[in-house]
Amino acid sequence: MTANKQKAYILLSGGQDSFVCLLWALQMFDEVEAVSINYGQRHNAELRYAGLVANYFNVKHTVYNIGEFITSMADSTLLNSGNHNDSHPQANNLPASFVPNRNGIFLTVISNHAFRNNEPIINLITGTCETDFSGYPDCRDAYIKAKALELSLGLDRTVNILTPLMWKNKAQTFEMADKAGKLNELNELTLTCYNAVEQLNVWGRGCGSCPACKLRERGFLDYLASTNIK
Ligand code: ZN
Repeated sequence: MTANKQKAYILLSGGQDSFVCLLWALQMFDEVEAVSINYGQRHNAELRYAGLVANYFNVKHTVYNIGEFITSMADSTLLNSGNHNDSHPQANNLPASFVPNRNGIFLTVISNHAFRNNEPIINLITGTCETDFSGYPDCRDAYIKAKALELSLGLDRTVNILTPLMWKNKAQTFEMADKAGKLNELNELTLTCYNAVEQLNVWGRGCGSCPACKLRERGFLDYLASTNIK
């Protein structure tokens, strides 16, 4: 993709994937603005990390709080208590951490934010990934394409949703950060852990035992193995 000198809006969660998406966005766009969403997540410490990342890159950052709205209408171990490794009470084939329509709601929020800023073309960036995702159906490429069409129709202007990590595995996201010279910043300034454990490990912050930490640790080790760094 050639450099696209426009403005883009990025969903910044405070986690690993959106950090790497921000690195990508800063190379691709003249101006980047970040939006984070408090959706009532138990691990809301990640929002503090989103603030640290935005501050580090000197990017304008807005946080919307829709926690009461989401927690009043959805079951997920990310919102309530429970074991992340169980299956979801409304869908046996999905993990208990699934928050129904989370990505769809986030993308609606950030598109409204860009619309309010009167953007003639709305470029949105999200770190959703289909390669080694947790099975969430709204992370799939087909869903994102449909959502872009829905938002374009709903706002009556072009809405692009860019997903630079859609076909990357976790090892490749570490590689993107390393190539940008930001591997240490990735590890120190992001929090992916579902249990919001902030302990710093060689692969980043986290408890090491929740699904998000296991995915992150495995990705880091796979990346190290591919580069022969010891
Ligand atoms: Zn964890």
